[in-house]
Amino acid sequence: MVFDYISVLIAVGAAGAALCVTLAMSWIRQRSSGFLASWAVSIGIVVAAIASFAVYDSGASDAWMLAGCLLMTTGFIMSYGGLVQFRDGGFPVRLVWLSAIGATAPMLAAFVLGYTGVVIWLVNLIASGVLGFIGWQYWRMRTESIATISLIAALHFAVAVSFFLCFVMAVIEAPLYLPGGMPDNWAEKVNLVCAIIAITGIGGLLITVHQERIAGLHRAEALTDPLTGLNNRRALFERFGDDAVPEGTALAIFDLDDFKALNDRYGHNFGDTVLERFAELILANARTNDVAVRLGGEEFALILPGTSPADALSVAERIRSAMARTSHVIGNEDVFCTVSAGVAAAQKPGISLDTLMRKADNALYHSKRNGRNKVTPLKASAA
Ligand code: GH3
Ligand code: MG
Ligand code: MG
Repeated sequence: MVFDYISVLIAVGAAGAALCVTLAMSWIRQRSSGFLASWAVSIGIVVAAIASFAVYDSGASDAWMLAGCLLMTTGFIMSYGGLVQFRDGGFPVRLVWLSAIGATAPMLAAFVLGYTGVVIWLVNLIASGVLGFIGWQYWRMRTESIATISLIAALHFAVAVSFFLCFVMAVIEAPLYLPGGMPDNWAEKVNLVCAIIAITGIGGLLITVHQERIAGLHRAEALTDPLTGLNNRRALFERFGDDAVPEGTALAIFDLDDFKALNDRYGHNFGDTVLERFAELILANARTNDVAVRLGGEEFALILPGTSPADALSVAERIRSAMARTSHVIGNEDVFCTVSAGVAAAQKPGISLDTLMRKADNALYHSKRNGRNKVTPLKASAA
C-alpha cells in the first residue's frame, strides 16, 4: 500500500471534523431539523475516537485505544438515533443509551481482563453490525428519496463489510494482547479508505436528503389550502393540466349557500369553522381515489375517477344532505348552512378539466336558481 496507517487515519478524522461542522451549521440555520444536530454530535464522537486511536498509535497507554473503541461504538449508535429522529421525528434517548451500554460493556470487560486484542475483535464486529443495521434501516426508508437514500445505505454497507474484514483479520492474526499500536494490515487500510469515502459521501447525501425533504414540504404547502388542508386549485390543475381527464371521471362542484350573509351575521371566524366542517364532510364521503379540492372562497370540488353520473350524483347528494343536517354551534345558537352542487361527468374521451368544470358550474347555477340546497346533474341543467 502506498499510504501509511496514521496518515489515512488523520485524513478520516479531518473529513469527519469537516462534516461535523457542516452538519452543525446546517442545524443552526434549521433548528427544527434536530436530526442534523444528532448527526453532527455522532460524527463529532467518531472524530474524538479517531483522535484517541492516533494518540494510542503514537505510543500512549492502552486506555487511549479503549477510549477510541468505546467512543466509536457510541458515535455509530448515536448516528442510528439521528436516523430514527429523521424518520420518526423523535430522538430515541433510552434506546441509544441502552444500546451504547450493551455494545460497550463487552469491550470494557475484555479490557479489564487484560485482553486488549479481544477489544479490537469486538469493536470491529460491533461496528460492522451497527453500521450494517443502520444501512438496512436506510434501505427500508428509500421510498422518500430513492437514489439518495439508496446510496446512503450502500455506503453504510460498504463500511460495515470493511469493519467485518478487519474483525476477520484481527481474529486470524489472533493476538489476545495488542503489541502497543493499532493493528496495521490490509483490511485496516481498506477500512480507512472506505471510511473516508463514506464520511464525505454520507455527509453530502444526508444534507441532500434533508434539502429534498424541505423542498417536498414547500411543494406540498403550495398545493394545499391552509384553512381546510384540502388540495387547492393549483393542485387540481397541476394534476390534470390541459390534458383530457380520463374517461369516466365525474366532477361535483359545491358552493355554500348565502355564505356572505352567514359571515356578516356571525363573523368571519365562524365562517371559517363552517368551511372547515364542510371540508371534513366532503372527505368523510369521499373514497380514497377521489380528490377533494377547495377551489377558493366557499367553493369546493370533488373529482370522482371511474364513477358513473348516477353514482356521482348520489355522493354529491349525500354530502349536501349531511351538510343540511349539521348544526354549527355559536354561543347558544345552532346555525345551519346549506350547500348547492352541480355534477358533470366525462363520458367520452378528450374532455378537458376546464370543460368539465364549466359543465358542473352550469349545473350548480341551476341548483342556485332553483332555490339552493340542491344537487343538479348536467343533463337536467342542459335544458
Ligand atoms: P350564494 O348562495 O349565491 O352562493 O351566495 P353567497 O353569499 O354564498 O355567495 P357570494 O359569492 O356572494 O359570497 C361568498 C362569500 O364567501 C363572500 C366571502 O366573504 C366569503 N368567503 C370567501 N372566502 C372566505 C373565507 O376563507 N372565510 C370566510 N369566513 N368567508 C369567506
Ligand atoms: Mg361562491
Ligand atoms: Mg355561495
